[in-house]
Amino acid sequence: MTASRPLVAGNWKMNGLKAAAAEFGRMVEGYGPEMRKKVELAVCPPATLLYTLSVMAIGSRIAVGGQDCAVAAAGAHTGDLSAEMLADAGAAYVIVGHSERRTDHGESDGLVRAKAQAVLRAGLTPIVCIGETEAERRNNETLAIVERQLAGSLPDGVGPEDLVVAYEPVWAIGTGLTPSSDDIAEVHAHITGRLFARFGEPGERIRILYGGSVKPANAKEILGIPHVSGALVGGASLKAADFLSIAAAY
Ligand code: PGA
Repeated sequence: MTASRPLVAGNWKMNGLKAAAAEFGRMVEGYGPEMRKKVELAVCPPATLLYTLSVMAIGSRIAVGGQDCAVAAAGAHTGDLSAEMLADAGAAYVIVGHSERRTDHGESDGLVRAKAQAVLRAGLTPIVCIGETEAERRNNETLAIVERQLAGSLPDGVGPEDLVVAYEPVWAIGTGLTPSSDDIAEVHAHITGRLFARFGEPGERIRILYGGSVKPANAKEILGIPHVSGALVGGASLKAADFLSIAAAY
């Protein structure tokens, strides 16, 4: 609800048929009052399930979100979905700039920024993803890369409640590999500094999620790292038991 609670967001990617709604139902059931106080939960299913899950989520306070959106609000864009449509289907968040979009669809920082603006226009909160590749980390370019992606991808004029940043090293996504806690701490501290420089004091309160092979087994350690204010979870968000056990690290 506010920038002060951490956020654990699930990214279902291109997974989930109608039957997956039952798994979401178990998440809704498991997200009790104690957990709600400590952590906000969101699930970003494929768009085909968004409306169904948003109806199921009524009263539970689990937010639902989209995984991408078009820049335009409506019009002749076959196959695209606008942020307004996602809002209409019940979304509160929209992931933009996920590395799979950047790689598979050639999305540039400029396009990610335009999408983030579109999300804000629709009254939703963008989760803007950034992160280095394995080669970039090997070449010690990580901080420069995330700084460049931040500068190019973030929308202007937002407050701490309006924006979420997700640091996701590309090489850690779906691989079971994670950076060391020190490495995550270094990048998150750097991002915090850049957000402060860009947005002033509110920038320091923008939530910065870590993403990339977050599992029940490593959640406590990762979520305890300074400047890590939540997680963006892929594979482990598909099962209610795993997702809830990650959230229970708070
Ligand atoms: P993963 O995916 O948790 O399966 O590594 C994270 C993501 O892509 O957001």
